[in-house]
Amino acid sequence: MTEDRILLAHGNGGRFMRELITGLFARHLSNPLLDTDADAVRLPGLNGETLVTVDGFTVQPLEFPGGDLGSLAVHGVVNDLAVAGAVPRYFTLSAIIEEGLEVAQLDRLIASFAAAARANGAAVAAGDTKVVRRSEGGGLYLAVTGIGERAARTELAMRRIAPGDAVLVSGPVGDHGVAVMLAREQFGLSGALRSDSASVLGLARAAWDLPGLRFMRDPTRGGLATVAHEIARATGHAVALDQAAVPVRGEVESVCEMLGYDPYYLACEGRIVAVAAPEAAEELLARWRALPEGGEAQIIGRIEAGNPRVLLETELGGRRILEELEDDPLPRIC
Ligand code: MG
Repeated sequence: MTEDRILLAHGNGGRFMRELITGLFARHLSNPLLDTDADAVRLPGLNGETLVTVDGFTVQPLEFPGGDLGSLAVHGVVNDLAVAGAVPRYFTLSAIIEEGLEVAQLDRLIASFAAAARANGAAVAAGDTKVVRRSEGGGLYLAVTGIGERAARTELAMRRIAPGDAVLVSGPVGDHGVAVMLAREQFGLSGALRSDSASVLGLARAAWDLPGLRFMRDPTRGGLATVAHEIARATGHAVALDQAAVPVRGEVESVCEMLGYDPYYLACEGRIVAVAAPEAAEELLARWRALPEGGEAQIIGRIEAGNPRVLLETELGGRRILEELEDDPLPRIC
């Protein structure tokens, strides 16, 4: 490709589009499934039960400390499969590109997507590109389907959650939300905080065969509080979180204090919230802490019978209700 920026012609079906696909996308994503001229690809059979998930990704800026849209899109889909007990095998990738996007940046983002996909053992089996007119897109949107094969032996489902169960988190909350906020420099704030954008496949794998593991979810938009609300609503029980136990980095806390945000509602992109039977909680904590990405894992609360709501037990000994999120404090974050 010789152009510096994406032109509408890169979406017109002709030479420019062919060069974009072969010279950029295929160069990074090439594999035997993708490298065919067929309209649809026959996937090799999977060993276990097949799981599928889909997500669309948009983030401003497209590159931020600790990550970028390319790897974020892989992590988002891998993590949804991982917490459901599956290993990722195949992706589809649909890229909606805005006219005017720098080709060099697109190249970096797709290279990052490809590297993250490889690191998680999955290949892009089908892909598509579209170009939209200038000002009609945020530079780049990625829509990704993930196909995985079930590897967990333990059944994971919210209905298995019971009063007395422990709630765990695999690491500090709110890093992604604050890192992206700082990268936007919209509040005149800057800092060294990095997004937690990462695959949780290793953490999930360490938990999969643990008897007593009930349920896992990766907190993304809406953060820890939103996952807690989903659990409360589905089970009919209260989720009581211990403020002193929930890991929050100092920098995240400072930014939240300055801007009036609550870290429990801020997006994570590389964490797991798990619910485990009381007798399994310490074992899960030990397994997570034995991994580099789980070194800051904590038991952060428990399920209490009846009255579906989310409570935060404060360090002063009080209890406050964490309401369900209404207004997204940070749009276009993942
Ligand atoms: Mg999820």
